Order: sequence, then C-alpha cells, then structure tokens
Amino acid sequence: MTLLRVEEARDRMLKGVEPLGAERVALSAALGRVLAEPLLALLTLPPWDNSAMDGFAVRAADVVGASNEAPVRLRVIGEVAAGHVPTTTVEPGTAVRILTGGMLPPGADAVVPVEDTDASPGVAERPAGVQICIPTEVGAHIRVVGSDLRKGDRLLEPGEALRPASLAVAAAAGHGDVPVHRRPRVAILGTGDELVPAGAPMGPAQIHDSNSVGLAAQVAEAGAESVSLGIAGDRVDDVARRLRTGFAEAEIVIASGGVSVGAHDVVRDAFEQIGRIELWRIAVQPGKPLAYGLATRPDGGMAHFFGLPGNPVSSFVTFELFVRPLLRRLAGHTELIGRPTVRARLTDRLASPPGRRTFARVTLAADPDVPGGWLASLAGGQGSHVLSALVAADGLAIVPEEFDELPAGADVDVIRLDQDCP
Ligand code: AMP
Ligand code: MG
Repeated sequence: MTLLRVEEARDRMLKGVEPLGAERVALSAALGRVLAEPLLALLTLPPWDNSAMDGFAVRAADVVGASNEAPVRLRVIGEVAAGHVPTTTVEPGTAVRILTGGMLPPGADAVVPVEDTDASPGVAERPAGVQICIPTEVGAHIRVVGSDLRKGDRLLEPGEALRPASLAVAAAAGHGDVPVHRRPRVAILGTGDELVPAGAPMGPAQIHDSNSVGLAAQVAEAGAESVSLGIAGDRVDDVARRLRTGFAEAEIVIASGGVSVGAHDVVRDAFEQIGRIELWRIAVQPGKPLAYGLATRPDGGMAHFFGLPGNPVSSFVTFELFVRPLLRRLAGHTELIGRPTVRARLTDRLASPPGRRTFARVTLAADPDVPGGWLASLAGGQGSHVLSALVAADGLAIVPEEFDELPAGADVDVIRLDQDCP
C-alpha cells in the first residue's frame, strides 16, 4: 500500500475548511485570539496637542538666546496637569507649568523641560516665576494631535493573532472589545485496555494515558479548547460510543492509539460507524498509521476526526504536523504552521525509513564556527516511545523522503518547537 505524502495529506485535511464564525470578546480576554475583521481607530491619537515632558509651556519667541549665563525670566501664570483642561492663555513673558500628558494651553508653542530651568524637579509648589536656561524651538517636546493615529486608520488586519501590543493599541484607539474568530473545540479520547488516567494507581500491565494529557496541552497551546472523552477499552462499541459524544461537542475529535494494523486496533472500525475515513497512512516517521476522516455533527455541520498513532512521540508529532494547522485554520490564522524553521548543521547521523519524511527530535545550540548558525544534535533515542528525547528536544529536524540517512555535517531544516509564531 502506498503512503500519502505529508503535503497531500495536509491539503486534503484542509480542503474547503473555513475559519469559524466571529464573536465579540472583551480586550481582557482576547490575548492570542485571531481578529475576524479589520480593526479601525475610533479616534485620533493624541486627541490634542500635549506635553511630552514635565516642564513649562512657553512661547518660543520669548526664550530666544536664553542660556545658563543669561537666563530668561517668565512669570508662571497657571498649571495644566494630565486630565485637566487649561484655563490660562500663555501671553508674552509668561509660562504655564505643564505635566507630561497635559493639554497644551492656548498661546504656547513649545515646552521647556523642568531640567532646563531653575525650578525644582519632582513634587514642588508651583513657583511664581521661572528662569529658562536654554533656547527652544516651536514644537519642542509637544506631541502633536494625530502624530500617532488618525481616526479611521487600519490598525490590525483580520487573521492577526492579538498580542499584548495589539490589545493596548485597540484600547487606546477606543475599543473595549474586538471581533475574533470562535475558538475551535477539540474532544480527546485515549484508547487501550492498558491505560489508566494520569495520577491513578497502576495495576499490572498498565500504563498512564499520557497522550490525552499531552494532546490537551497541545490544543491549548494552539489556542483552542478541549474536552476529554476519557479512556475507551479496545472494543468497537466503547470507542464508537465515546466518539459519538465527541462529535456532539467539538469540531475536531481526536483518538490516540488503536489505529494501526494490530488485532485490537478498533478505532477505524469504530469511527466508520459514525463517519467516513478519508485517508489512512502517511509517509512520515514517526506517525505512519494516522487516520483522518469526516463526520456529520448532530447539528448538521461537518467535524474532523483524527485517529493518531498510540506511541506517545507519534501522537505528539502528528498533532504538530496535521492537527495544529487545521486548528489554526479554524481559529482564523492565515499562517498555518505557526512555528519558525531554522537551518542547522547536524552533529549526528540521522536515519530515515525509505520513502518517509522523518521528523527527528533534536536539540539546538549556537554554532561556534558560524555566526548566527545552529548545530542540531540528537535529543536522545529516536524510538516512537521515547518521551525523554521529546521533552529534551528544541525542534524536529526534517529528513526528506529521498534520503535514507543524513550524515553528520549535513544541513537540515529544524522546526522549532520551543517557539510559537503569532
Ligand atoms: P497502539 O497504536 O494502540 O497499538 O499503541 C501503540 C503504543 O502506544 C502502545 O505501546 C500503547 O501502549 C501506547 N499508547 C497507546 N495509547 C497511549 C496513550 N494514550 N498514552 C500513552 N501510551 C499510549
Ligand atoms: Mg492500543
């Protein structure tokens, strides 16, 4: 049986998939959410000319030629703090004390910082007069109306994940909430007679269900929500019953384990009672037995099914390669991988099964011989069960299909797992 290429499998999973609908979310809850519409400035910023410094609002013409030796004395006739409207006009020979963010009073055309005067910095009574010790220019230390944003400016584009700076600019520009795509929901099932939940006491021949824990965290890291369908034994009816619950609640249902060619691998049979397998077996290492299908939800919408391989590293890697891009598409991201890739030189030989693309668990270190370059080394054993190498890894080094091995010294692409692109 021929195996599907990675790209073909991914294209088939993503075909026709549109981002989920939009909802409005308060800025305080919108970090990481993906904008569904362009975000426009609702107001101009700064909304009025204001001071960039603590100091004195003056007429620049009054202080021409001022210096330490020949300071110019001005009468201080008022004060404007941030949040207060000026009540005095700066006439020739006068100044108004102004605080950072204070609205520029009429008549003034420059601000002289307090440090360039004889006035005391910090908390102090307003002086009756001030000596200005430097000349200034019209506009000095004034933040001009509209110098940051203009009402109607496009601030953020649809498909952008909201970062702290995006939320701050949205708030400054007048928004209290933002239109974002709904977060995808993912239901997660562990399958296998050997499994007990994480933390539960283990009987003979049992292991903990680590895949469900890891997958739920991968879902959360990708910005989606997950629900647990528990653990099914290796029986078609148990798996099918739990999967059905998942399709009632989620856009994506993931089972791990039971999807290969073993005598107890019942997951595909169970899923076929609910939907249709679209593809099975991909030319990757680890993760070959992955199955993908579509099912109709009780509400009539379509939902995606992933039968991920049971081996813990296979489950992790195939989520990264196939589930994560689909989740990002549903969540409205325009960039679907969401991980940076770096070029690195191997310090170890990498082996790869013929015709399959291998994603080897590697650590990255700066290359002492090449400025800006990286060295990639095996993070540990490359068996699909070796979680210790997965947790040590900074990334996945890619051995293309046409190579059965890459020698030490060869250059490879490494997908960084320790970084997330917005
Ligand atoms: P399977 O594909 O069901 O034959 O599982 C392959 C290997 O992965 C077996 O050693 C299973 O015990 C193990 N495995 C399956 N599911 C899980 C899981 N949820 N957590 C940890 N290991 C698992
Ligand atoms: Mg199993």
